[in-house]
Amino acid sequence: SDARTPLIAGNWKMNFDHLQAIAFVQKLAWSLRDARHDFDDVEVAVFPPFTDLRSVQTLVQADKLELKYGGQDVSTHVSGAFTGEISATFLKKLDAEYVIVGHSERRYRHVESDETIAAKAKAARDGGIVPLICVGETAKDLERHEPSAVPANQLRGALIDFKPGDEFVVAYEPVWAIGAGSPATPEQAQNVASVLREVVRQAVGDETAAKTRILYGGSVKSDNIVGFMKCPDVDGVLVGGASLDVDEFSAIARYK
Ligand code: PEP
Repeated sequence: SDARTPLIAGNWKMNFDHLQAIAFVQKLAWSLRDARHDFDDVEVAVFPPFTDLRSVQTLVQADKLELKYGGQDVSTHVSGAFTGEISATFLKKLDAEYVIVGHSERRYRHVESDETIAAKAKAARDGGIVPLICVGETAKDLERHEPSAVPANQLRGALIDFKPGDEFVVAYEPVWAIGAGSPATPEQAQNVASVLREVVRQAVGDETAAKTRILYGGSVKSDNIVGFMKCPDVDGVLVGGASLDVDEFSAIARYK
């Protein structure tokens, strides 16, 4: 919808050390500058590993880049005896805008529950970071449920502590489409996104639901993004594999 600024988000996962991150961000910034990209029109954000964030911050601030960035995960706690964890306050200190919570790789490989994801989303919000909440069904879920059932349940769980006015982003990522090379169809994405917007409406009310961006993720590339961006309830994309190629990610951001 025109009322919501589209967000093009690149999840690097466990790729690029801090030197590679600097080189990548610099090339991306040049590419978008050469294309006179209007960041107010289409927001662009990258999600590097934690160890890269300080370097990305330094570059973004030194060169006054309009590129946003965020973490890929966050602790449910603020500080304390939680070896290996990173808190939202640390991300905020690095001027991170967003943090991904509930990515399918964390739900399934790191066995994160809906309760944990709700606590992470809340910790992000409380720390002044906008959570990018990922939901999506597996191929197995589709054998037993309609496509929107599992993602809608996951989103209801994640928003349990959220209230009208809270800012968050939702990413609908069918697990069967992630890294698969074959995305959902725009129609499939729209059908689930519209159900998810209804879940948001029930959780935080009409006004906040109308402002909340719902992204599609799963095998998005520059040659299929336009179809998704035409969907009335799809307000951007979360990109994995294709976000690691500067030219490809830049082309995705310039889909218009
Ligand atoms: C993801 O993991 O968030 C993702 C969308 O990956 P890909 O674009 O590689 O399918």
